[in-house]
Amino acid sequence: MPANEPGAEAFVGLGANLGDARATLTQALAELAALPGVDSLQASPLYRTQPVDAQGPDFINAVARLRTTLSPLALLAGLQAIEAAHGRERPYRNAPRTLDLDLLLYGEQVIGLPALAVPHPRMHLRAFVLAPLADLAPDLLIPGRGRVAALLAGLDPQPLSRIDP
Ligand code: ADP
Ligand code: MG
Repeated sequence: MPANEPGAEAFVGLGANLGDARATLTQALAELAALPGVDSLQASPLYRTQPVDAQGPDFINAVARLRTTLSPLALLAGLQAIEAAHGRERPYRNAPRTLDLDLLLYGEQVIGLPALAVPHPRMHLRAFVLAPLADLAPDLLIPGRGRVAALLAGLDPQPLSRIDP
């Protein structure tokens, strides 16, 4: 991280597949940018993707890059507050969701808490994460996994399409 910029660089994965998923994601990106302690948010294009290990309609997915002075756990709490404001319920594992916000990366930190695993443990397997992440930072190194573009190129094809901005 450059010494003249405060805070850490973090990446957040966004997904929704209930209701007006596209509008929810656009709104969630604005709410993420407005969190106290979050700056310089940059959003990837939106993608339409088929559910992986989940039920229901297609997902809309995106990734956001931001700078933050929040700790990883404080940023997670902010993400969960935004999810809750969108009526997120967790009736069962991998249930359809109005909004899912995952902390993908926080600088180069590796965190292994029950409430917070960073890098997100499945992000390197998911085209719906890696494709929007590659739009923002193809050369980014995912600690312990490799570089984003190379990981994406090595995946079996997963149906997804970019939504024109
Ligand atoms: P998933 O995103 O895997 O479908 P949930 O959104 O319901 O599941 O998250 C379940 C729990 O995962 C949350 O209570 C949270 O504490 C935990 N968790 C662990 N690591 C992360 C992470 N990197 N980002 C978001 N949540 C995480
Ligand atoms: Mg989640």
